[in-house]
Amino acid sequence: MLLLMWSILGNSAEVEWQEVSQLKLDQYMEFTVTDSGVLLGDEKWHSQAENISRGKEQYLHFRVSVSNPQVIIQSLWLVIPFPAIKHLTITDESNTWVTGDAMPFSTRPIGSPNYVFPIRLKAQQTTQISGYMQGEILRYSFSLNTPELIRTSDRNNVIRDMAFFGSMGTLVIVSLIIFIATKYRSYLSFAVFTFSFGAWFFRVFGYGFELLWPNHPQLNDISYALLLYAVMISSTWLLISLLKRQGKEVKYQGVLWGYTVLLILSGLFSVLFLDLSTTLVIPLYWFFPSILLSVFITYKEHKAGSIKAKWFAFSIFPSVAGGGFIVLFALGFSFPIDPVGSLMLGIVTTCLLLTVMISTYLIKLLQSQRDTELKHSILKTHQTHELEKLIRERTQELESSNQLLQELASKDPLTKLPNRRSLDLFVDKSIEDNVKVIGIALLDLDHFKRINDTYGHDVGDIVLCQVAEVLKPLNTSDCIAGRFGGEEFAIIQRLPEKTKFETALKALHVKINQIVITDYQDIHVKTCIGWVISDGNETIGEYFRRADKALYQAKEQGRNQLVP
Ligand code: GH3
Ligand code: MG
Ligand code: MG
Repeated sequence: MLLLMWSILGNSAEVEWQEVSQLKLDQYMEFTVTDSGVLLGDEKWHSQAENISRGKEQYLHFRVSVSNPQVIIQSLWLVIPFPAIKHLTITDESNTWVTGDAMPFSTRPIGSPNYVFPIRLKAQQTTQISGYMQGEILRYSFSLNTPELIRTSDRNNVIRDMAFFGSMGTLVIVSLIIFIATKYRSYLSFAVFTFSFGAWFFRVFGYGFELLWPNHPQLNDISYALLLYAVMISSTWLLISLLKRQGKEVKYQGVLWGYTVLLILSGLFSVLFLDLSTTLVIPLYWFFPSILLSVFITYKEHKAGSIKAKWFAFSIFPSVAGGGFIVLFALGFSFPIDPVGSLMLGIVTTCLLLTVMISTYLIKLLQSQRDTELKHSILKTHQTHELEKLIRERTQELESSNQLLQELASKDPLTKLPNRRSLDLFVDKSIEDNVKVIGIALLDLDHFKRINDTYGHDVGDIVLCQVAEVLKPLNTSDCIAGRFGGEEFAIIQRLPEKTKFETALKALHVKINQIVITDYQDIHVKTCIGWVISDGNETIGEYFRRADKALYQAKEQGRNQLVP
């Protein structure tokens, strides 16, 4: 509005330089459009560029006369902020500058989103400043600035920008480190998004490849395109990974992914079959529906009871507010604050809030993981205890059945004396141990058949058991007294002295004779014992035969005798 009024009231192609730090030239300028950079002289000049209909490949010429009433030459900078143009030429009558000449960079100076050209106003004369820009110009404004103003504003811009890129870079590094440490993928998506978004800003603000390779402007365009697409893709990834609740898919996430894939495909198509500038414009058209879709998804998630959606919307708010300032600024409103700076502050604040959000959920996730692990370990300990108990019980059962088997295999079931097998093993072991002197005694109860026949088999068993009770104490590590079979018993002893064997047998004979079965008319147990001492000169079988022979002799000689 203000601009319109100015142009109607005081439009003039001439303006006077005064002692100010900035002189705005917009309302004094005249414009015309041609199909080339050359003026033929018959062009019609307009006071308002907005009213001229313009095409993509046209040239917008501008001119203004600035008078300098002072007695000294004024060295100033002509500033044209943010024009999206292909080519720009400026002349102040004595010098002509084209884009890339004024500063050592192909497009704009470092730390400034503006084109600046050095202008000299001759002392007490009028200097005409003119030039043209090629391309579809979105916005333009012109001003003359003192070098001091340029210096301070450039310095402030650099400080502001470096604070922004420093914060974004720190967030990228921190989230990458946390991702590596925790493998929590939200951090990775956040790092990728913050990196591409920061790098895209870096590029837009005139840093980046312009600084490194000023003579390769195509790198600028390629890096710009790549970063712009990276921002679109990573923001989809970030949104989905931020809103994802445990075990649940984000609502309509397939639509958002599909939309992003289409963007990539259309970008590829455009770069292969169309041109780079179309490729760069595509994300702009894609951007607004994508914002609407994201808002819709966040709203749907919020309706489904997601706290994450609330957090996300809250985190995005500072960026939206900062973006709002930029939009209002572009619409012509002016603020006592730097709109670009407030957008940057909003973005950094959003990123910080998102980090808080991701970290909160990571902590919750880790806590729930720890709780489950604890529960598992408690359960495991309990199960282990149960298992150990079961194993103990089973081992005990096994041990007792082993013991039983051992007893069955080695003991006579009636008398519980060592059986024939045990006697044989004892002999084998003694031979193996190279024991030379072994006493062998064979016992056979006298007229046992009679006891069986007179009192019954059960009484016979009682007698066998009583004899066994007398024999049992003889069993030591050096001696075995066992049941040989039927009513026959055997004693085998490793002997330190030969004489002791006979003494022991005599004592045993006495003890057996002392057995009386009182309940059955005082049965007296009598036995024959045939014995021998081996000295290792003959086979053990031979000694057994001798003992058996002695036993036979004892029977022959009238029974109940001890015969060597
Ligand atoms: P001798 O004085 O000549 O040795 O006469 P004997 O009756 O003892 O002789 P014999 O060897 O003919 O008899 C042994 C008997 O022992 C025969 C058998 O019925 C009996 N007998 C063998 N084993 C058992 C057993 O486990 N229990 C009982 N009650 N009797 C048995
Ligand atoms: Mg017998
Ligand atoms: Mg007998």
